[in-house]
Amino acid sequence: MCGFVGILGNEPAAPRLLMSLQAIQHRGQDAAGIGTVHEGRIHVRKGLGMIHAAVSSMKGLTGTAGIAHVRYPTAGKSSSAEDAQPFITRRPGILLAHNGNVTNVPEVKAQLREQGIVVLSECDAEPILLVLEQELTAIRQAGHTSEDLKQALAGVFARVRGAYSVVAVLELDGESTLIAFRDPHGIRPGVYGRLADGWIASSESVALDVLMVDKAGDIPAGACLVLRAGQDAQILEVSQPEPRPCVFERIYFARPDSIMEDGRINRTRWCMGRQLAREWAAKGLSADVVVAVPDSSRPAAMAMAEELELRHREGFIKNRYSGRTFIMPDQNTRELALRLKLNPIREIFEGQRVLLVDDSIVRGSTMGRIVKMVRKLGPKELHIAVFSPPVRNPCFYGIDMPSQDELIAARLSEDELAAHFGADSLTFLSRAGLAEVSGPKICAACFDGEYCVPVSADERAAIESNRRG
Ligand code: SF4
Repeated sequence: MCGFVGILGNEPAAPRLLMSLQAIQHRGQDAAGIGTVHEGRIHVRKGLGMIHAAVSSMKGLTGTAGIAHVRYPTAGKSSSAEDAQPFITRRPGILLAHNGNVTNVPEVKAQLREQGIVVLSECDAEPILLVLEQELTAIRQAGHTSEDLKQALAGVFARVRGAYSVVAVLELDGESTLIAFRDPHGIRPGVYGRLADGWIASSESVALDVLMVDKAGDIPAGACLVLRAGQDAQILEVSQPEPRPCVFERIYFARPDSIMEDGRINRTRWCMGRQLAREWAAKGLSADVVVAVPDSSRPAAMAMAEELELRHREGFIKNRYSGRTFIMPDQNTRELALRLKLNPIREIFEGQRVLLVDDSIVRGSTMGRIVKMVRKLGPKELHIAVFSPPVRNPCFYGIDMPSQDELIAARLSEDELAAHFGADSLTFLSRAGLAEVSGPKICAACFDGEYCVPVSADERAAIESNRRG
């Protein structure tokens, strides 16, 4: 998972890029970068860590068009400076960043190598950039038209498979153009809006909100959005769209105040919670109090409480300053690290029949520690409700998930998981219930194994080995 912002206007781009990028810092803390274009010259500052560490100064980031990026590695080594985005080419001048996973990277790299082009990083954005550069220069050296751009993108879509949402500034024929495109399934998110003096595109609408810009639309799947200052947005339809947006964005990754595709994430999580409440009640279970595991579970927990006519209480205080949980050497230190992050309030749990609501269970290690922590506070009963179906398959489309053998719900049933964690019951939202809320046209491959972009055994192996770094 990563996040991007692209801006093109008449005012300096860098300060606005920095503001907007901070709104999507949750999409990646591993590296960050900002690139701008001024009089045909591209300037980039990028580095490791959170935004203020990676881009400590904006000196030299001149120009009214640019791109900013936060990185969370799903391909490429973690903490590797050469994998930080944006990436650039000089002739033609292209500044590009992306969010997603290219599933056929080895094939794309082999094609490029045959033509004498070496990909230097392990980041998927670089092959996308080099293919775009090739496709653009194959058409002509100058005088590019919209039809040329469409043709170049058709070449990119034909050669690059997977899930990618891309933003780029093109320096063609002495003019800056902001473009944004998503793969034909539109798996990874992307939105755009109109500035007073130009355009902005980003992974999430909250990056527009900080500049007080309304979302104009989603970056269309299988198309290229062309944005120029002083002109209306142009949509070049390149490939037949078959939208399958990632439902995990709605469950966990996106900010609750973001608007994606069909609605605000907060509302979607609320509807998932309401649906889960019906399924939970149908099992004949009951509780006294509903407690969310903060933060993404809060709207679903509130909806469950409302639907079940139960009290909703904040049972955990989250430490906003605890930073990242690094790999801890032993069980005891891992438990302390969780306690540092999440401190439970004894009286909310003691003697109560508690319904604990979480967004998902992946490896199960965090849930195991939370249950252990809560059990020490003496609840009468402890029930777990998860507002997503069991994660049984890895993601090859840009979300950092472990391989299948590490996914606990791929091995254990609901009852077995409850026993494993030490809870009285565990209930997942059903796959049908998820469809009830989010409709049928979603990517839910990590739940149901239906991958809309086929991934061969070799490609799976390459992605998993790259993920391990
Ligand atoms: S497999 Fe899951 S996490 Fe990956 S894109 Fe699809 S829904 Fe999202």
